[in-house]
Amino acid sequence: PYQLPADATWFITGCSSGIGRAIAELVASKPGQRLIATARNPSSLSYLADNDGILKLTLDVASRSSVEKAFEAAAEHFRDQFHIDVLVNNAGYELAGDTEAATEEEMHDQLETNFFGTARVATNAMRVMRQSKDHRGGIIFNISSLAGVAAFPGQAFYHASKFAVEGWSESFARELHPDWNINICIVEPGGVKTEFEHGSKKYTKVHEAYDGADMPARQLAGWVKKGIAAGGGVPPTAVAEALYVVASRNDK
Ligand code: NDP
Repeated sequence: PYQLPADATWFITGCSSGIGRAIAELVASKPGQRLIATARNPSSLSYLADNDGILKLTLDVASRSSVEKAFEAAAEHFRDQFHIDVLVNNAGYELAGDTEAATEEEMHDQLETNFFGTARVATNAMRVMRQSKDHRGGIIFNISSLAGVAAFPGQAFYHASKFAVEGWSESFARELHPDWNINICIVEPGGVKTEFEHGSKKYTKVHEAYDGADMPARQLAGWVKKGIAAGGGVPPTAVAEALYVVASRNDK
């Protein structure tokens, strides 16, 4: 069974704010754990100390070359010590608004970051985990969402991206040979108080449809949105702590 090593190396995407930052700060506070903290803009990682246990890298998950460069830089930095024990595939954003208002570019960008970004980073990390000489393997956390489980109006492409993450993760997990000792964990947070609410918002049609809605998923949407508006979302540190517990006790 998999056990988190005392000197585990964590690789986290989207560390500039929110959930990614909370996890990076938690890992950085654990003696012995190594952190590869990544962000599109590395200056956003100045909250992390500069020491041997922390490597800060530029990484835009929407760019294949950026992902490849980040993995190469990590391999070069750690050399024969390079391993990834925990990947947190966190980077993502929400395209919100009327579905018909989304441009081709906006809908492609949403899937490029949230889905293809998640898939390409996970595949690269899996290759590193699979090569571990002692079969120490690893765990891959793909941050989906409640929006990857139930759909409500006004964010159709965001739902598409998170449903894609769910299906892809389940299939990919079944491809992994048990001897590789690699687990995949899909994380489905509800409302989390972060910088998340920055998607484009063109909601005219959604509001018309939404008022008369009685579908359970729409009720759920109302509940989540009211909860967030009332300040009822959980802090990102709560997600970080839950994820750390799962990583520590991870067992097949
Ligand atoms: P934030 O907006 O606070 O953080 C999002 C992070 O993703 C930022 O670091 C952002 O970086 C990064 N990011 C966005 N696009 C890219 C990209 N192309 N390459 C690399 N990094 C990128 O929001 P959250 O912390 O809330 O979101 C984190 C994850 O949690 C997302 O996947 C989101 O879908 C999911 N989630 C959030 C919920 C919530 O209620 N907040 C609920 C359920 C799931 P930059 O600073 O460069 O923009």
